[in-house]
Amino acid sequence: MKTPELICRGNPFDVGAKHGLLLKEAVQSNLANFWSASQALGLERLALVQKAKKLAQEYTDALIEEIKSVATGASVDLGELLAFNLCHGEVFPDECSVLFAMGDATASGNTLFLKNSDKIGGDSMEGPNFYKHKEINVVLVVRPEDGPGIVGISAAGSTGLKMGVSDLGIAVGTNIARTVELGKRKVDTTQMRALDRVQLAREGLQKESALEAANYVLARISENPTATPGNIEFVDSTTGVIVEGSYDRVALQVVKSGIASRANSFVVMKDLNDPSDVSSYCRYVRSQQLLKENAGRLTADLMKQFSQDHLNGPGPNSLCRHGEHYSEETSQSSMVVEINATRPKESRLWLALGKPCHAWNHPDGFIERTMNRWDDTPEGFSNGEVWKRFWTEEPRFEQEVLQA
Ligand SMILES: [Zn+2]
Repeated sequence: MKTPELICRGNPFDVGAKHGLLLKEAVQSNLANFWSASQALGLERLALVQKAKKLAQEYTDALIEEIKSVATGASVDLGELLAFNLCHGEVFPDECSVLFAMGDATASGNTLFLKNSDKIGGDSMEGPNFYKHKEINVVLVVRPEDGPGIVGISAAGSTGLKMGVSDLGIAVGTNIARTVELGKRKVDTTQMRALDRVQLAREGLQKESALEAANYVLARISENPTATPGNIEFVDSTTGVIVEGSYDRVALQVVKSGIASRANSFVVMKDLNDPSDVSSYCRYVRSQQLLKENAGRLTADLMKQFSQDHLNGPGPNSLCRHGEHYSEETSQSSMVVEINATRPKESRLWLALGKPCHAWNHPDGFIERTMNRWDDTPEGFSNGEVWKRFWTEEPRFEQEVLQA
């Protein structure tokens, strides 16, 4: 059987239509999950839809056109899909760990980037399959008429990126920061035009360098903060930039050499962190330890192993995060990138869908490609089937590769 074409190409209308049609079932499932989770948080559907319609003014016409077209393709209500895209961070915060190393810290001299994406599950979801509580993660390949091509991992139906790479050689990741303000829900974002981090990540990948992308996002969130405090990391062959953004302040860390990482807390603005957030502390310390111990000889394979690290676990405090209950934040997917400085379209990506300690260890659980070669992507990576297969909370113990 011929593999169907999985690349979303063309103008924003065509890109969205392809996304919607291709991922129809997964989009519908994620949207249902979103409303269950919103309900559990006491957020009212109509109010969220109205808010999303107002928020749409904060984004480019091209992005809104793409979301409209996804809604049509997937046969879902436009207002609801706008809420799913633009109010997503309020309902499903993007937990996650991000680790990166600049050329002087790696074996090849190329920048390396890793993100594990962690998510909660919808508390009120019902269903025979455990995965139905979680959002379906898919590989999204976009080749727009204007601007750079993009590959990343997204929640089906979302135009935003949990993590991704442009064919100009920029990688991006995001993570919520668990601050005291967030824990106490001290800031009421209902009246703000609060932005969504994963959409900003996608917008940033339209830029020509990591620094330009970070400065663009910094300006955006200085004007309107993101719905929850958090970090956005942009990394290219020479520069890594971490944007930390809270409700009333922002900070930039520019990394030209060595290593850097983030869990779900701030480093520059650490005074804002919630001291009861043990998981972020454990993951940040462990990520720094792994990167520093291996500095100078870091490889993509090592980054994949870090993504499966179970020290302080396996559980909520390890880099590969596991849980007892679907409402816990646990790892759902992972991306490793090696950026090719001279030929960015030949940058290498490894994308794992499902639990990192399982997906990285099975030939069907991850995919390895260069930015310019996605035409033969197996369908299961785009329609959610691979993610469902490798999504489990059961830790994989056979290969405990790196013990301190
Ligand atoms: Zn694991």
